[in-house]
Amino acid sequence: MGNIQILLRQHVGAPCAPIVKAGDEVKKGTLIATPTGLGANIFSSVYGVVEEVKEDRIIIKPDAEQKDEFVPIEEGSKLDMVKAAGVVGMGGAGFPTGVKLGTDLDGGYILINAAECEPGLKHNIMQIENECDKVIRGVKYCMEISNAAKAIFAIKKKNENAVKTLKEALKDEAAISIHLLPDIYPMGEERAVVRETLGIELEPTQLPAAAKSIVINVETLARVAEAIDERKPSFSKNLTVIGKIKGGNKPHVFMDVPVGTSVGDLIEMAGGLDGEPGEIVMGGPFTGKATTLDAPITKTTGGIIPTIEFPDLHGATMGVLVCACGGDETRMRDIATKMNSKVVSVARCKQAAEMKSGALKCERPGNCPGQVKNSMQFKKDKCEYIIIGNCSDCSNTVMGSAPKMGLKVFHQTDHIMRTIGHPLYRYLRVSKKVDQDI
Ligand code: SF4
Repeated sequence: MGNIQILLRQHVGAPCAPIVKAGDEVKKGTLIATPTGLGANIFSSVYGVVEEVKEDRIIIKPDAEQKDEFVPIEEGSKLDMVKAAGVVGMGGAGFPTGVKLGTDLDGGYILINAAECEPGLKHNIMQIENECDKVIRGVKYCMEISNAAKAIFAIKKKNENAVKTLKEALKDEAAISIHLLPDIYPMGEERAVVRETLGIELEPTQLPAAAKSIVINVETLARVAEAIDERKPSFSKNLTVIGKIKGGNKPHVFMDVPVGTSVGDLIEMAGGLDGEPGEIVMGGPFTGKATTLDAPITKTTGGIIPTIEFPDLHGATMGVLVCACGGDETRMRDIATKMNSKVVSVARCKQAAEMKSGALKCERPGNCPGQVKNSMQFKKDKCEYIIIGNCSDCSNTVMGSAPKMGLKVFHQTDHIMRTIGHPLYRYLRVSKKVDQDI
């Protein structure tokens, strides 16, 4: 294992402030950085010695021998223990869970985001299959803390084994039910989960609390249970490594990887790179970004995906269509550049509303508002190709107009989908009307 690099910002909010210095000995679970505002405690994930404290990270040289034991958090109220353990939304959002659970739902809902919507990622579904009891304990704790009367698992129908496991585990749990989702993107966006499970459409500026609900990811629930039952600080992460890996493109799921482990170490654990990758993506195909072998994983890293090479478009003109639930404009331009094309036009799905923070949020995730106008803009701007980051429904709509105008279409996930052997996002293959309560 190489050095562990623990970033001081692993959550929504301000970076944490380090409370250790070079030369300090640390254990698994030693508190090494604390919030300076909205944030969550950060712990050492290994036994070792602090080598360096930088502006944005703490570098730890791990001991050769690593024990399983960890420094436990103090006992307290359930909410205080979740806060003390530094649990954040591990589906990628990174919002401090202790703050989220501080909402009084007054008999409302805990909505379990088990959509695992990013194609290729498998660790959430595997956790349901293998550690269902722990996840359900986490659900019950969250219900108790936030005064929720009911909980609903939102899970894609295609995950038959996990659904079967859940049904069996929940057969005597009258307050916890399952809602089956169709296999389209995005189903894991918070407001999509609220809409699918409760039938309530929230505005982009509204939080699930407006529907008397809290949306919480599967792994986050397991970390809540660990904090309360085992007094365990949050210093490890479950994730999926998939892609251009020696031995094939099947997913490698790793549970409880020390936060701060490098991307390169994880790829080696999965079998090593199978030749030069086009890029290495950290996160999922839609929302991930290009990374490097020495980058560290954080509490929110879900996937590591080395990809096949990009096609060479020899300087062709490119239009970029940005979706709120896919890559941002910077990411889309990055891909266009890697394809050796020249961006001459940028458009945005009209449902991608810009928030005060500058981030985009979809007004109705996954329900296309029509894309013909954008295709016409690209045609007018003399694009030969377009690259789109759209949801399943909108990709389908783009395909209804752009090719007829002579525009050749790429989806931002194409190189990843080809790498992992997943159908490309073009024509919608799955009915949007699959969802049902069971
Ligand atoms: S409707 Fe538009 S902004 Fe919303 S998810 Fe689909 S492409 Fe993205």
